[in-house]
Amino acid sequence: MKPQEIVSILKEQITNYDIKTQVFETGTVVQVGDGIATVYGLDNAMYGELVEFETGATGIVLSLEESCVGCVLLGLDHGVMEGTIVKRTGRRADVPVGEALIGRVVDPLGRAIDGKGEIAASEFRPIEYEASGVVTRKSVSVPLQTGILTIDSMFPIGRGQRELIIGDRQTGKTSIAIDTILNQKGQDVICIYVAIGQKASTVAKVVSILEKHGAMEYSIVLSAFSSDTAPLQYIAPYSGTAMAEYFMFQGKDVLIVYDDLSKHAVAYRTMSLLLHRPPGREAFPGDVFYLHSRLLERSCRLSDEYGGGSITALPIIETLAGDVSAYIPTNVISITDGQIYLESELFFSGIRPAVNVGLSVSRVGGAAQTKAMKKVAGSLRIDLAQYREMEVFTQFSSDLDKSTKELLEHGKRLVETLKQPLYNPMKLYKQIIILCAATNRLMIDVPLKKVNEFKNGLISYMEMKYQDIIEAIEKEKTLNDEMVEKIKEATLEYKKQVSSSWQA
Ligand code: ATP
Ligand code: MG
Repeated sequence: MKPQEIVSILKEQITNYDIKTQVFETGTVVQVGDGIATVYGLDNAMYGELVEFETGATGIVLSLEESCVGCVLLGLDHGVMEGTIVKRTGRRADVPVGEALIGRVVDPLGRAIDGKGEIAASEFRPIEYEASGVVTRKSVSVPLQTGILTIDSMFPIGRGQRELIIGDRQTGKTSIAIDTILNQKGQDVICIYVAIGQKASTVAKVVSILEKHGAMEYSIVLSAFSSDTAPLQYIAPYSGTAMAEYFMFQGKDVLIVYDDLSKHAVAYRTMSLLLHRPPGREAFPGDVFYLHSRLLERSCRLSDEYGGGSITALPIIETLAGDVSAYIPTNVISITDGQIYLESELFFSGIRPAVNVGLSVSRVGGAAQTKAMKKVAGSLRIDLAQYREMEVFTQFSSDLDKSTKELLEHGKRLVETLKQPLYNPMKLYKQIIILCAATNRLMIDVPLKKVNEFKNGLISYMEMKYQDIIEAIEKEKTLNDEMVEKIKEATLEYKKQVSSSWQA
């Protein structure tokens, strides 16, 4: 480039230079403590507006009073003291969103915490966003396969549904969510795992499992650790949802897990009490229902005119001693489209996943269940319920009639069939073959201890000899009578092969 050219470019830039002065309202901190700063002078601040402190700290305005506003500090409050100048930013709190976040571990403000460098996101979205209206929505019709036999057969989940996972501590709640994420491999679903108030070691374990199974390629992990401040924990699920909405509005399907909302409610309680809001039941503030309803309402299935994207939510709630009638559990149960209820008793008796079939329900997923599954799983719930009832009745009696005995044996096999190890999500065809054999009472003479082995063996046998049926199931997702007969025949063939080893 010639010198004259450079000079002319510079001249042009100087003449066109536009001096813009931006005037931001400022205020001063009058009191600070426990992550809350009371600021005087921000008369026009909006609820939920982001403010910047002179020290570099950021905060969100969450309480508007007559003479001052209450701001929660995001992150550490180092350096903020009485007299610190605070500047309004004029925008609501937002987070970076987009493809760049996939495969990363971030904090609730979208900053990388996995040590893999900064995230170059091109777009931002507000963390609080109004849920889509009725006209933009469509009812649930596409299944979201969890890969967990018990859930896919009896409590099917559809894309856009909100299904609660509820249970005491250490009952396998997180495991169900993780298995579901693992099962989305190759399904064109982006997964977001939001950890709220968990230990760093627990989150690290989740990340390593996802990495090991190649699930980080389509996942984002967002974490507010237990050591983070209450405000950071409070915004975590909203930030995660903002990231999910970006993909949903592009017409993609997203799965988001909130692990867990009990801790989220506790963080909100802490914050509200510090902001001097009046406490209500269990010391939670009065708007704790709205806290979760506005979050979960953002999960939906958009109609085709709006791109047809969806957010499926799996919120997790921890109960104390199985008490589902506590404040937060009842709230979230009433907001969601069903719940998977996990029980310690079942968990410790070896029934894992420890799903209580009687108390779990999926209110809308039935419309999304594949025809093939409907055909083989139709009687499963009733059979299990009958078995449970009969089991209690017959505990002390010895001479049972033949049909009762058969019902008991059948029930025992069903319970055994539904057991599933960790990180082992099942493809549709495997679920169909196993259920077809089990619900048609073909496993009734398999020794209880051999059921698991029989299940796996049967699948391998089918994979070897009846690839056509497997392909048909995976492609059509339906099952006609002819195919049922074929699976039954194959099961009998296989049973003949292996039954001789049972006597030994
Ligand atoms: P927390 O209350 O601590 O969050 P949680 O309810 O999320 O616990 P998990 O962490 O998922 O429970 O599981 C608890 C333990 O149970 C883990 O050690 C896990 O390995 C084991 N576990 C969960 N599901 C199964 C399963 N299907 N088969 C075998 N073990 C399981
Ligand atoms: Mg957990």
